[in-house]
Amino acid sequence: LFSVEGKRIVVTGGASGIGYAIAEAMTMNGALVGIVDMSAERMEAAAQRLAQIGRRPELACANLANPDEARASLEGLHRVLGGLDVLFANAGISGGPGFLGADGARVEANRFEAIDPGVLERTLSVNVGSVFHSAQAVVPLMKAAGQGRIVVTSSISASKTELMVGSAYVASKGAVGMLVRQLAHELAGYGILVNAICPGPTATQIAGGRLQDAAMQDVLGRFAPLGRIASPQDIQGVALLLASRAGDYITGTEITVDGGTHLG
Ligand code: NAD
Repeated sequence: LFSVEGKRIVVTGGASGIGYAIAEAMTMNGALVGIVDMSAERMEAAAQRLAQIGRRPELACANLANPDEARASLEGLHRVLGGLDVLFANAGISGGPGFLGADGARVEANRFEAIDPGVLERTLSVNVGSVFHSAQAVVPLMKAAGQGRIVVTSSISASKTELMVGSAYVASKGAVGMLVRQLAHELAGYGILVNAICPGPTATQIAGGRLQDAAMQDVLGRFAPLGRIASPQDIQGVALLLASRAGDYITGTEITVDGGTHLG
């Protein structure tokens, strides 16, 4: 029911963090995996690790905020993999300062008036633009195949106000949430399912690796009823659900994986 054996699956931002964990879950379960990332170096290191647990992924280096690069990289991987069953549109950035300090106090640079307009522009262009451009690249291919899935890594910040991330990030993920619903509605008639995974704080490289800092994890873990922040591997189960036959009747949905953080 949850098998992804033989499925052709591309993960954007798959060189690190949540994207890497998704690529790992798909590789371990027999999928043919492609990764698009803007860091060739991190991607090569990820490919070497993945080759130890299964088939080595195909790689394409691109800045997905750029529509031409998104199209070239995804069309290239579609060719090499012989098709595309699932796109995980996961690449994203934290959008400037905006985290609590290790002492639990709010970082002053996160104040709304202090956010540089350039940060807003960059955050929207990466977090919204990369999902938009990646989807525009693969939808014609999925329509031609009569099936496909797009799974977007959104965030609990899409629907929950946050003091620990900045307004630019929250605005970008709010837009991503609405884009997922719109695409799900528009593409359902073509056999294409579109969903979002909404993680809470997760220990990855994002925000300069601050979420990998033990003191920061301790502070953020107190916001989660389950008492700890997520590891990237905590996201793997929902990724398998949405990529496999188990997810056949799920579209236009956001699935939260946050240890209960959204509760309060
Ligand atoms: P990460 O920094 O560990 O990994 C992100 C990867 O995306 C990196 O390898 C980076 O090179 C790549 N990337 C960034 N911008 C890109 C671009 N323009 N083009 C191509 N590749 C690009 O971060 P992560 O935490 O694993 O983030 C993955 C997704 O999860 C993001 O969309 C993020 O917003 C979301 N998310 C993260 C958290 C968290 O707490 N870590 C919580 C909720 C949602």
